[in-house]
Amino acid sequence: MRNLPDFTSALTQLIASPSISSTQASWDQGNHDIIQLLATWFEQLGFCITIQQVPECKGKYNLLAKLGSGEGGLLLAGHSDTVPFDENRWLSDPLKVIDKDNKFYGLGTCDMKGFFAFILQACRGLDAENLKKPLYVLATADEETTMAGARFFSQSQLARPDVAIIGEPTNLVPVVMHKGHMSHRISVQGQSGHSSKPNLGVNAIEIIHQVIGELISLKEKLALNYNNESFDVPMPTLNFGAINGGDNANRICGHCTLDIDMRSLPGLSDEELINWLANAIAPLAEKYPARISFEELHPSSPSFEQAKPSTLVDIAEEISGHQCCAVNYATEAPFIQQLGCQTIVMGPGSIDQAHQPNEFLAFTEIDKTTTVLVKMIQHYCL
Ligand SMILES: [Zn+2]
Repeated sequence: MRNLPDFTSALTQLIASPSISSTQASWDQGNHDIIQLLATWFEQLGFCITIQQVPECKGKYNLLAKLGSGEGGLLLAGHSDTVPFDENRWLSDPLKVIDKDNKFYGLGTCDMKGFFAFILQACRGLDAENLKKPLYVLATADEETTMAGARFFSQSQLARPDVAIIGEPTNLVPVVMHKGHMSHRISVQGQSGHSSKPNLGVNAIEIIHQVIGELISLKEKLALNYNNESFDVPMPTLNFGAINGGDNANRICGHCTLDIDMRSLPGLSDEELINWLANAIAPLAEKYPARISFEELHPSSPSFEQAKPSTLVDIAEEISGHQCCAVNYATEAPFIQQLGCQTIVMGPGSIDQAHQPNEFLAFTEIDKTTTVLVKMIQHYCL
């Protein structure tokens, strides 16, 4: 283990290996280098490494590292990518870890490359011979955009752990629930024409006006049918985000689009929510045949709930000293859960620092995170 870095050095090297994922091609990067870095380290610790290329994504890989053998065990999971950064708003180089005011600054320190530096420290001195059950480490690709890495990993079923912990920044509070997220574009195809002869055209703006009316009623119906007081906003939400249509005051608007965002609750599947949307639009689709359509703007991410009672939640509450809670942001948890394991989200740092300039990880997180991970490994693998 001569070359195994200490915590600060591991964090520095992880942050220095850029792995931005973005829907904008000019920002999007592969994650091959950071996956190789993790592979080298975990191999030195005796883990068996599997690297999978994520299909239909250029230069994107997942890494699965496994120590020990047998059934079940513990999976520690995280994403290897970060969001892009706004250089002008950073006070330091985002790819260079700076140690200042008892904090490590850098892109991905808390969301969430830093988590892998913690795992590395927690695994020092572990001997595969002594493990009763396997310990897995998973690093995924493209969490910040499509979650393609976690989707593919869950389909390939390479591991069947008993429990999984995803180390997103929760201040080490066990998160057992979050909402789902989907975005759709509703398109209305009208028929353009001269404004003086409205009967010769079909005005797309007038149709979209009716669509909006239906969607406002849908919002109310969803709030009546679904409620979960664990969330600050206890109902599913529907947001009108953007509208585009027409070109000139004296032309009948020939085409109009409306972009919406919907956030489901646990217990309301993506399919059910899409059904609600389709049913809301159905009467207008009948009134205006072949003029109204809707499509997904990007792949949806489902809601997540770890059902209780759960031994994992009990143990995580005891070891972390925090009560479990629900959060508003989406994670890879619903995909990891498809491996058939109890799943929580629990990691160092605060979500308030994620996706922000001058992202940091406070030094106060270091010892307690390592202790939590060591105790979790002891409980589930030793
Ligand atoms: Zn994250």
